[in-house]
Amino acid sequence: MSRVILQPTGNKDARKNYVETIANPIEISRIKPFVTSDEFNYLHKLYPNGFVTIWGVTAGKSNVNMKKWNKIQAADLAFFSANKTLYSYGFITFKLHNEQLAQNLWGNNSEGQTWEYIYFLDEVREHDIPISKLIEIVGYKENYLVQGFTILDEDKSNALVSYFELESETINQHISENDYKKIIESLELSSLDIEGKTKSRAEQSFLRKSLFGNKKIAKCGICGKDYPISFLVAAHIKKRSLCSKEEKLDVRNIVMPMCKFGCDDLFEKGYIIITNGIVTVNDKTTTESLRLYLKAIEGLNCKYWNSDTEIYFEWHVNHHSLSNVR
Ligand SMILES: [Zn+2]
Repeated sequence: MSRVILQPTGNKDARKNYVETIANPIEISRIKPFVTSDEFNYLHKLYPNGFVTIWGVTAGKSNVNMKKWNKIQAADLAFFSANKTLYSYGFITFKLHNEQLAQNLWGNNSEGQTWEYIYFLDEVREHDIPISKLIEIVGYKENYLVQGFTILDEDKSNALVSYFELESETINQHISENDYKKIIESLELSSLDIEGKTKSRAEQSFLRKSLFGNKKIAKCGICGKDYPISFLVAAHIKKRSLCSKEEKLDVRNIVMPMCKFGCDDLFEKGYIIITNGIVTVNDKTTTESLRLYLKAIEGLNCKYWNSDTEIYFEWHVNHHSLSNVR
């Protein structure tokens, strides 16, 4: 599950570092001499526009920061704080222990240490959350101050993520297949409490990761158009709420990407069905605008239709022909 990191930036060094490599993203070419070609290529994929936002922490006394940094994972969230305010957050995409890069970016602090435990961020957003709000949400004592680089435990992280409905548009948290199984076993009724919301986010993350991997752009399985993955959903071919546990675990066959520009909804509502691998328009009430959309996708090949997925598409066809009997 995504964890929340609190990153105080009250001191002079931190304020300067924030301006230099977060407020002003840096060109990826500046990093190139300090990283391996694999690392560089990976970063280039993550940041196709060529600019990265970076943060780093020092090892800290008795490596206290380093030990915390070891626990960071992609899709964790870092909140930056100063003056009793959480003033921005971003999603962590990648981390790197690299002393030379840190020295090049930020130099050393007065104790001769550098911020060598580095993490990269994306989707950095500014906001204005008073620490008192954080205290209220996670249940800290009234006089709580963010002191040092802190990772919140799972319950506190979930409370914060759920409260602000924070979800990355591009980075999916890592959910193991085993965790996904556990979620499917326990997620019987959709629930709106924090635990339920956390589980369903994790379920979606797992499905999205299995469809998109680390890609930022992918194709809609219906219209075949390329979109940033934030405009694609991992859509169940057979309606999710009617799937058995076994079907939900058949991850490779039960979901496909569909775009939010229409295909997902049209499929969900049965305006389109897939017959023998072809996008087919169902006979339903329509309007001129809708007819134009449908006309553009009618007859396209659905590359997710195969001998393993056929039963789910068939279910979808049957489900919607029954609902058509008026
Ligand atoms: Zn589409």
